[in-house]
Amino acid sequence: MNSLWKTIVRTRFVSMNLLLVVAVALGIAAASAVGAPPAFDGQRAFADLEAICAIGPRISGTEGMQRQQDLLVEHFTKLGAECAVQEFDVAHPQTGEPTRLKNLIVSWHPAATERVLLACHYDTRPRPDRELLPRFRDLPFIGANDGASGVALLMELGRQMGSLSPRYGVDFVFFDAEELVYVNGRDDYFLGSEHFAKTYKATPPNYKYVAGVVLDMVADKDLKIYYEVGSLHYARAVSTSVWDAAKRAGVKQFVARRKHEVRDDHLPLNEIARIPTCDVIDFDYPHWHTRNDIPASCSAESLGAVGHVMVEWLSRLPDFSPQR
Ligand code: ZN
Repeated sequence: MNSLWKTIVRTRFVSMNLLLVVAVALGIAAASAVGAPPAFDGQRAFADLEAICAIGPRISGTEGMQRQQDLLVEHFTKLGAECAVQEFDVAHPQTGEPTRLKNLIVSWHPAATERVLLACHYDTRPRPDRELLPRFRDLPFIGANDGASGVALLMELGRQMGSLSPRYGVDFVFFDAEELVYVNGRDDYFLGSEHFAKTYKATPPNYKYVAGVVLDMVADKDLKIYYEVGSLHYARAVSTSVWDAAKRAGVKQFVARRKHEVRDDHLPLNEIARIPTCDVIDFDYPHWHTRNDIPASCSAESLGAVGHVMVEWLSRLPDFSPQR
């Protein structure tokens, strides 16, 4: 701002109109620097979602997953976050071969010893196995909503982190192998979040997570997000704080009524790591686990709505610290 004024002062033929325009612009800049939350850009998040989907399937242990991870590490490092990869092997559910899984942990204000966690899964289901016709079940599954939506939301939220000063440190955690599931009932879900939770419990770090939010399927064109039953059971205060943030932000897509009980990555966090974590998920998605889970079934407006709520939530986090 200073240099702009200097330029104006040095220019001899500045019309009054230009001065007025500059003064108004500076006034707006000053107003937005004080109090107003940063603007989560749903369109930009949607472009991120398209870029992630353009990689193709991001099945755990594959080249597509590695390319996504490289993209995310570059993205968040450029934004000034610290990136760490938590690696471990599992037996591949089909072949039994060792398969390398990788959770990605992106830390903001890493010195803070009390932290909140925002998480999503970043793997895609191997096959669109809810297709009615068996011949479609071996086609590629893109996972625009079920996979890319949480990733895209955190990518855009990352761009806002520099202008937020949350009460707690913030980690974005990308879980691998939420659904490395070829056969329902045979293959295990939540391999990444379970490993993360077990590691946190077995070798506690020098910080503590006081609350968590899992974001999953948050880009459905027809977005309605209800309280998830297990989240109210394990993390009522966290759940209500998110829906309260939605109310303050005027985001109508968050409905303060319970509806589904969903098995998701929040369960290992609550049950093993004892991090009170709620699941933000729109489970009424007609294209769930079908080949139509593509960007055209998603919308920038929906991503913008959820992003706006998360910015509001981070801006006014309640006191989640354990009572001393
Ligand atoms: Zn899924």
